[in-house]
Amino acid sequence: MTKREDPSFLVMTDRDGTIIKDVPYLSRLSDIEFLPGVVDTIRKLNILKVPVCVVTNQSGVARGYFSEEFVQESHLYMNELLGREGATIDRFFYCPHLAQTNDPRYNRECLCRKPHPGLLLSALETFPTPLSRAMMVGDAVRDMEAAKASGVKGYLILGNSDIPTSSLPEKDYVGVLSFQEAVNRFLGESGITLS
Ligand SMILES: [Mg+2]
Ligand SMILES: [Zn+2]
Repeated sequence: MTKREDPSFLVMTDRDGTIIKDVPYLSRLSDIEFLPGVVDTIRKLNILKVPVCVVTNQSGVARGYFSEEFVQESHLYMNELLGREGATIDRFFYCPHLAQTNDPRYNRECLCRKPHPGLLLSALETFPTPLSRAMMVGDAVRDMEAAKASGVKGYLILGNSDIPTSSLPEKDYVGVLSFQEAVNRFLGESGITLS
């Protein structure tokens, strides 16, 4: 009980394929659909005052598939959907860049596109947290590489990801089946149970 409102945790999560249904280069609000268990888990994290941050690559912006405004609008919409069920995502961090694209606004070899850790470092700066108390969950190897590069524990949702064979040693991440399982295992290590 003493830890119930301990704010010194941070949950960082990938977006597409991790908390919402994976739609390649999602460009319609109507395609946004939370995966089973996600809304409930976020609501419980909100109650525990654990910040929840989305860290997402959105190179569709650099590729000209949709605008940066659309990305922002989709994040507002996600929080609108969550809000209907009493949940909220605290902050969204996204990377609109891509090296070798035609749009000079986004044509950049940036440090925020995962596997680079820039988005995670921004989240850690916004919500200062001991690294051992911060986690990253995602469904792609680059999510785990970004977790490792930022120094936080990575949880890889197995099943729909490009499972690493040699690119990433298994000791560098924990395999899970869902966002919910990742959060439960992470907090469980500190004796906290989401209920
Ligand atoms: Mg993903
Ligand atoms: Zn970037």
